Formats: sequence, structure tokens, C-alpha cells
Amino acid sequence: MITEPKSTMATPEEEAKFLAGVREFVDSYVLPNTREWEKDRLPDEIFRECAKRDLLRMTVPKEFGGAGYSCVAYCEACRMLAQGDPALSMNIAALNALCIPHLVTLSTDEQREKYLAKAMNGEIEMAWGLTEPDAGSDARRVRTAATPMEDKQGYYRLNGEKMFITNGGRADLIIIIARTGETELSAFLMETDQPGFRLGERIPTIGVRASWTSQFTMKDAIGWHTPCTFEQAIGFLYRGRLGIGAMALGIAEKAHEIAVKYSMQREQFNRRLCDMQSVQNMIADSEMEIEAARLLVQKGAEMFDRGENVTKAASMAKLYASETSCRVTNRGIQIHGGRGMTFEYLAEKLWRDAKLTEIGEGCSEIQRMVIAKQVCR
Ligand SMILES: Cc1cc2nc3c(=O)[nH]c(=O)nc-3n(C[C@H](O)[C@H](O)[C@H](O)COP(=O)(O)OP(=O)(O)OC[C@H]3O[C@@H](n4cnc5c(N)ncnc54)[C@H](O)[C@@H]3O)c2cc1C
Repeated sequence: MITEPKSTMATPEEEAKFLAGVREFVDSYVLPNTREWEKDRLPDEIFRECAKRDLLRMTVPKEFGGAGYSCVAYCEACRMLAQGDPALSMNIAALNALCIPHLVTLSTDEQREKYLAKAMNGEIEMAWGLTEPDAGSDARRVRTAATPMEDKQGYYRLNGEKMFITNGGRADLIIIIARTGETELSAFLMETDQPGFRLGERIPTIGVRASWTSQFTMKDAIGWHTPCTFEQAIGFLYRGRLGIGAMALGIAEKAHEIAVKYSMQREQFNRRLCDMQSVQNMIADSEMEIEAARLLVQKGAEMFDRGENVTKAASMAKLYASETSCRVTNRGIQIHGGRGMTFEYLAEKLWRDAKLTEIGEGCSEIQRMVIAKQVCR
């Protein structure tokens, strides 16, 4: 795990104000537009709007120009955003857990000077590129090759292919994990406005459709080396998994809320659905599982804030919350009956969006491996 600088953190009052702002943003702008955004993609101004509400500087300490919010507040923000638009939540989670911390913690002063303020203001968009066609769960299998440029100290030529990269189609700057030797891997800052970067077709997905999931190739693209090991670069995934757990929780909460509401309005056999025992069982199970997921995410975030190792806690939070999210959204459709399969209700969309949380930042099978490894030491 990486120890990040966290000397100047926000006060509880600042965090409360920030979270109230996120709530208002979600209710007045994000949720009312989620269906529209899904038809194409998140709107052009979205990251600037997020920046105005501190959503791109959440995890950055104040001395670096950030807001210095805790991991608990970061998870709360991801949870609330997911109640409005899971694709936006996923993007904000990745930016704050993977992209921006890389600039803060693993980049040089010169690199930070050039990019950090712009990234936090939404002036430049970022993405994080690890996955490749032949390197998914087995991340060490990355093939993208990084070769030092003789005439440009600290710069490398990147050759390879990345796929499934969130916001890859919009990003101005992508953190590329690449191979520097037979066994060594490291990370590079790659601007996309260069001839060596070739953006492929956008990858359509069943859920989080408003996110621009992309594939791209690099042919002698220039990458600026950030002095770090592979383990340091992917170490950010621990907080990342807490963010995805929080996203899963937000999706489950929204699906549960609308299913309960529907069950209290709809009548069959002269009774409301919520008065029938089979429906009550579904409601009770969802209520309980959501509460358990909430506690696991909260616990992991509090451990992170205390500087404790969250390897196991983050995997447990993500695993349980994501599988809860898939179960709860599935029940949500069931409670809506035939209407659950139409586009009239958000139930079907949340069900599709929930699936990503069992896959992104490590599939459930990988989380189980991580947990078991921590247990059997
Ligand atoms: C919408 C979306 C956004 C994404 N965003 C990003 C991003 O921004 N950046 C990025 O780098 N990546 C991103 N990804 C990629 C994501 O992290 C990978 O899809 C994920 O890690 C799984 O890799 P894979 O798809 O290659 O599946 P595979 O690794 O091929 O796995 C296929 C199946 O086999 C199982 N499996 C694999 N190995 C084992 C094992 N050892 N034991 C048991 N089961 C195993 C997996 O759990 C899974 O069920 C994104 C993916 C999606 C769908």
C-alpha cells in the first residue's frame, strides 16, 4: 500500500458542506439527465461541473491545491453520484482513486506543476490505462513496451494496445502502465494529442453506457516516465475498490428505493405488492444486504483514513457491495414485474449498470483470491 501525503485534511464542517453540494448536484442535475446521457455520453461540460463542486480534488491534500477530504467522504460522494448516474460515479471514482493520486504521489514536481491543477479544474481530462487485450485479471502480463528515448531524458517510446479504458476516448492525458524490461513495469504520462496515439472505436457496453469506454493503440507514442514501480502504480486500486464498492452501494440503494415505492403503490389480488410475503422477503433481504454492504464500505474507508492496510477490507467491501448490487437490482426488476423490463422505470438501467461493479477494478473471483491470500498467510 502507498502512504499518501495527508497532512492538511478538510474539517468535518467542510466535508459536510461538500457532501450537501454533491447531494444537490445529483438531485437537480445528474439524476434528471441520466437517461439522456445514456443515449450518447456524459456531456462535454461534465468534468468542469464536477470540478466546481470539488469532485476532482476530493482526495488531494490541501498543500497540493486539493480539498483534503477523507476516504469516508470520497466514498459518500461516489455512493451519491451512483444514485444519480452510475457511469459518472465510475468516472469520478477512477479519477480520484487512480489518476489524480498518481500525479500527487508518484510524479515529479515538474510533472505535477504541468498537469495537477489542470486535472483538478477539469481543464484536462484523464484516464488510467492498465488493461490490454491479453492482460486483464493477470495485470502483470501487460505487453505495451516502453523504450527510453536517447535524446530526451525521462521520456520513453510506447508501443502497444490498451482496451476497456474508462474515459479513454475523451482523455487528454492517460496514465499508461507499460513494460520497461523483462520483469519490470512502470507508469507513464501520455498526452493523447500526438500522432503516436490512435484512438479506436468506442466499446459499447450493456451498462455504464454514458462512459466512454475505449480501446487505443500506441505506435511510438511519447510517454513521460513517472518514477514508480508496478506495485506502486497499481497500489491505488485499494482505495479504488472502496470507491467501486460505494458506487455499487449507491446503485443498490436507488434500485431498492424505487422497488419499495412501486410495491407500495401497485395492487394485485386486492392487496398491495408490499403486503405479500414473497415480495416482503425480497424487500427484507435487500434492506439487510444493503446495510451490510454499507458497513463494509464504511469500515474500509475509515481504516484507510487511519492509515491502516486495507487490502482485505477493500476487497471484501467491493465484493460484497457489488454482488449485493446485482442481487438487489435483479429483485428490483422482479418486483416491477413486466414493467421492470421496460425502459419506463430505472430498474432495468440500474440492473445493467450494477454489473460493472462485479468486473471493474478486479472481478469478484480476483477479490476472493485477494481475501483468501490475506487470510491464509
Ligand atoms: C466498463 C469498463 C470500464 C473499465 N475501465 C478500465 C479502466 O479505466 N482502466 C483499465 O485499465 N481497465 C478498465 N477495465 C478493465 C477491467 O478492469 C477488466 O475488464 C477486468 O479487470 C477483467 O479483466 P478481463 O476483462 O480481461 O477478464 P479476464 O481477466 O479474462 O477474466 C475473465 C473471467 O475469468 C476470471 N478469472 C481470471 N483469472 C482468474 C483466476 N486466476 N482465478 C479465477 N478466476 C479468474 C475472471 O474473474 C473473469 O470472471 C474496465 C472494464 C469495463 C467493462
